[in-house]
Order: sequence, then C-alpha cells, then structure tokens
Amino acid sequence: MYNFQSVSEAYEESRKFRDLGQTAPFPPYVTFELTNCCNFKCKMCYRTYVHKERKDIELDFLKTALDEICNWGSMIRFLGYEEPFLYPHIEKAIEIVIRDRLRNFFL
Ligand code: SF4
Repeated sequence: MYNFQSVSEAYEESRKFRDLGQTAPFPPYVTFELTNCCNFKCKMCYRTYVHKERKDIELDFLKTALDEICNWGSMIRFLGYEEPFLYPHIEKAIEIVIRDRLRNFFL
C-alpha cells in the first residue's frame, strides 16, 4: 500500500516503475475525467471545437473505483478536458476521497 505525502511522491513512484520497465502493482495515481462538460472555450483546447453529448461518470461506479483506489493509497486527480466542478456529484466525490484519506491516515 502506498503512503504518499505529496503528489510528487506519487509521480516519482510511477517513474520508478517506468524506468525499470515494470508495471506497478497498482497505479500510483489515478485520474478521473468526471464529466466531458466544460463552460470555457479556450482557443488551444479541442473541447472548444468538438461537440459531444454530455456524459458524466456514474456515481456508483465512481464510489466503487474510489474505494478500491483508496485501499491502495494511490493519489487521485479529478482532471481532464472538462471542468470537474460541473460534475453533478462533485461534492460527494470529494467527500469520499477525503473520508478515505482520513481513514488511511488513522489506520
Ligand atoms: S477543458 Fe480546460 S482547456 Fe479545455 S476549454 Fe475547458 S477550461 Fe479550457
């Protein structure tokens, strides 16, 4: 189980496996694109020019995934070609991560 104290430690762990040509037993960090929705139109971003039907991660799937990831202590990022605060369950998602981080902290 990982016990990262910072995001850079998770990146270093990931690079360590990459440099050895190995695969980590579980990803040191996991990125979720919670929605494909964004309320900006930045010129350099493909999101501005590609129009897709809105899709959000199912909350039940997210809960299951976060539980497994938190058991490993991986770092979690909500990031992508999106605005994560437009995800309708963003408060719940943050709550799950904080709850599990505190759980790991006190174990
Ligand atoms: S996803 Fe990010 S870069 Fe792209 S339009 Fe939205 S805010 Fe801009």
